[in-house]
Amino acid sequence: MALVNENFLKLPGNYLFKDIAKKVKTFKVTHPKTKVISLGIGDVTQPLAPAVIEAMHKAVDDMTNKKTFHGYGPEEGYQFLVEEIIKNDYAPRNIYIEPGEVFVNDGAKSDTGNIGDILNCDNSIGVTDPIYPVYIDSNVMAGRTGDLLNDGKWSNVTYFPCLEENDFIPQLPDHRVDLIYLCYPNNPTGTTLTKKELKKWVNYALENDTLILFDAAYEAYITEDDVPHSIYEIKDAKKCAIEFRSFSKTAGFTGVRCGYTVIPKKVMASTLNGEKTPLNPIWDRRQCTKFNGTSYITQRGAAATYTTEGKEQVRSTIDYYMNNAHTMKAALEKSGLKVFGGVNSPYLWVKTPNDTPSWKFFEEILYETGIVTTPGVGFGPSGEGFIRLTSFGNYEDCLEALDRLATWLK
Ligand code: PLP
Repeated sequence: MALVNENFLKLPGNYLFKDIAKKVKTFKVTHPKTKVISLGIGDVTQPLAPAVIEAMHKAVDDMTNKKTFHGYGPEEGYQFLVEEIIKNDYAPRNIYIEPGEVFVNDGAKSDTGNIGDILNCDNSIGVTDPIYPVYIDSNVMAGRTGDLLNDGKWSNVTYFPCLEENDFIPQLPDHRVDLIYLCYPNNPTGTTLTKKELKKWVNYALENDTLILFDAAYEAYITEDDVPHSIYEIKDAKKCAIEFRSFSKTAGFTGVRCGYTVIPKKVMASTLNGEKTPLNPIWDRRQCTKFNGTSYITQRGAAATYTTEGKEQVRSTIDYYMNNAHTMKAALEKSGLKVFGGVNSPYLWVKTPNDTPSWKFFEEILYETGIVTTPGVGFGPSGEGFIRLTSFGNYEDCLEALDRLATWLK
């Protein structure tokens, strides 16, 4: 009989958002008359920008004609998109990225999970806590995390707690860690690191031969000047960091699927013999074997986000979500809740009143107001005592949700 990868059996229950979906389904069945409003899952609600739709329609037309038809594309992405990425996302910040350093994908989830394929199973890992669950779960699958302990932590993972007490700023570990996941602006806390804070992590990585896996899926939501949009704004980060980006939250591509990963040619890892080897060609090799590229139609749509109209339209949708975030933050604070995030991020990290456990507060809000949130503890042990709200809803729904919450909290 075939043997199963037993690492998968170590994963607790379901993926967080499946658990939430199940609870919401039960609520809907038992409360058919309640209009449920979701401030829970980080999915967008506003349609694609007109410039994107036009480009995708045109790309479909290309597929109807023998001369402009596209079959398998380059695994690393079409040059027309890679060039726009470099020209718009990096060059204006004085970051020099070569075309061969960008790998277009079908979203950041795939690559933040798959990157472990090219890294030894014995690497030690470190994560900020709370954190986007994919980083931990994908390492559980790879057998890197050890065992799940009673406190909700994995025995071989170093956690960097991000708490109210430390302004959600993680502290450097007092020992060496091989791989460190950082996500800024952060999901779920909605908080960020200043350049000075991020520099400490880059310096740590350079001194300790650590590889930083930097998830910048929410960089488009940054409003403050001192917050880096890319880890490569920090000197020498190109020697120690891989960066993940996504069109999902920037341009509403959660259902279209497109993102990209930057692996600078200078980023090295070591063999067991101590020889340094660049990760860029190894990832390229991995992608050529396991990934057949993001669809032409999708990449044309992504490229359209960089046109003048595309940029304006995308920006106006981001502003719409950030207006929700500001409105929500102000209203929740007025209701007496402590709210973090929501300034450089579409996420609000809300402290539960009277130390109510996250899941209990989640259920109370769901059953008493019909509003879906996300329990903070689902993102890691340090998320206990918080819930996460997203500002990706319709403005009118946000207002209704805030009204219901204000009445309930009185
Ligand atoms: N990274 C973070 C931090 C996220 O919050 C998400 C989605 O919510 C992703 C990556 C996944 O993005 P994508 O839709 O590009 O797979």
